[in-house]
Amino acid sequence: MTVRAVVFDWGGTLTPWHDIELVSQWYAYAEIYDPEHASALAHRLAEAEVRRWRVQRESEGAEPAGALDQIFLDEGIDTTQARHLRALGCYLDFWSPHTYADPQARAVLEGLRSSDCRIGVLSNTMWPSAHHLEVFRRDDLDDLFDCAFFTSEMSVAKPHSDAFLAVLDSLDVSADESVFVGDRLWDDIAGAARVGMRTILIPHSNVPDEEIPDATVLPDATAHELLDVLRIVRSWQ
Ligand SMILES: [Mg+2]
Repeated sequence: MTVRAVVFDWGGTLTPWHDIELVSQWYAYAEIYDPEHASALAHRLAEAEVRRWRVQRESEGAEPAGALDQIFLDEGIDTTQARHLRALGCYLDFWSPHTYADPQARAVLEGLRSSDCRIGVLSNTMWPSAHHLEVFRRDDLDDLFDCAFFTSEMSVAKPHSDAFLAVLDSLDVSADESVFVGDRLWDDIAGAARVGMRTILIPHSNVPDEEIPDATVLPDATAHELLDVLRIVRSWQ
């Protein structure tokens, strides 16, 4: 096999998985936006987010969860207000410690580059791409990606085939010469396999059962740490 490109998921793949309590993340927002009703607002925002992820999952990515702004619109929040921007900053600060790249990320990406692989990212996310790119810059990884796709700004999400095909098209490679690396059996592994990519699972994420509609999917290989990806890809080459 010629491997000309490796495409990575982001959360739980290029970053170690962290269990995040959905209401707590929204409480960080709500206590700034509406301190008097913070708890109720945090619950409403969490429910709106869960609803959007569920629609995405049940439509198999044909109806993406969308962007964060859509959650705010769902809940009637005025996103032009200064207190919204302050609250959003607190939400992102809450997340910040959980967004750092795996310490092995740079070595893996550099190793793949030296093996003549192009590198892409495809992340199911509600955050704006600008925020993700800022995180890549902070972690000194931004020079290592040939393209990065964030479904907050796409019309489809994983596991929809068009999401994977958009990345392959941007990298100018075919599916059978490309590898996808992800932590989710359904969104990542099943979706990438369906378009004909080889797949590597990083199996350390605590993905809830209801988010894996078919757990019988098998990856082509399993990476127990991120550096294993380099070894596996080189063995396929
Ligand atoms: Mg992931």
